[in-house]
Amino acid sequence: MAQPKSAFEIFRFLEKSNCRECGEKTCLAFAGAVFLQQRRIRECPKLNPEAVERFAGELDKGNTHELDPGDRLEKLKSEIAHFDLAEAAERLGAVFSGRKLTLKVLGKDFSVDAKGNLYAEIHINPWVTVPFLEYILHGKGLPVSGKWMPFRELNGGRDRYPLFQKRCEEPMKKVADVYTPLFDDIVHVFGGKQVDKQFESDISVVLHPLPKVPVMICYWRPEDGMDSSLHLFFDETADRNLDIGSVFTLGTGLAQMFTKISLRHG
Ligand code: SF4
Repeated sequence: MAQPKSAFEIFRFLEKSNCRECGEKTCLAFAGAVFLQQRRIRECPKLNPEAVERFAGELDKGNTHELDPGDRLEKLKSEIAHFDLAEAAERLGAVFSGRKLTLKVLGKDFSVDAKGNLYAEIHINPWVTVPFLEYILHGKGLPVSGKWMPFRELNGGRDRYPLFQKRCEEPMKKVADVYTPLFDDIVHVFGGKQVDKQFESDISVVLHPLPKVPVMICYWRPEDGMDSSLHLFFDETADRNLDIGSVFTLGTGLAQMFTKISLRHG
């Protein structure tokens, strides 16, 4: 059994008929969700036995989240129903109006009401919604310090780092290598900001998947026979403003989204 290195590795083994029996619109979307361990590969009824043999054991181990993402989302929504959203808005510096708490996710309004219903200007999917609700329910709301650190140095990040590298940094680097408008898209489509180059990188871009959980993506171009490289950095408060499992989910979700964009436009 093997750990897939990308969603495409899983996709290669799917039927590619986009039949939607798994509930996803396309086989590629299903492969991406399996890669992020939001779905289980056995949920495709058309699955090739070779794929089961190759991946099922590894992918069924689950990632850092104990619950199935759907169950986890329902649990968080029911917690919201017993929660004081006005207090959360004050703690997080968010807006509370019309019985909804609203904050910016990647520069766009994202809201939840007292029943756990979600409203957004962007596509609502679990890699955003679970961290969004966790941030509201359990985030400390600490001010961003401006001190950047790699994922592995966050509390709880060391053990998860090999998987984070495989599911976030490596696929994102592959996109940056071949899809040159990536960093322009991050700035113009996702409200990111190009900042002074950090850690001697060639490009440094900051984006805000959640207001107090900024992510800095640094990219080093290939040079003198050395391969390119890409790393993500988080504010040192990230592991208190959000649980480490959700920080992981945000990073891998961003990688999946950039991969889809590069396929569509690249
Ligand atoms: S059920 Fe399988 S073949 Fe059909 S869309 Fe989903 S992944 Fe593709």
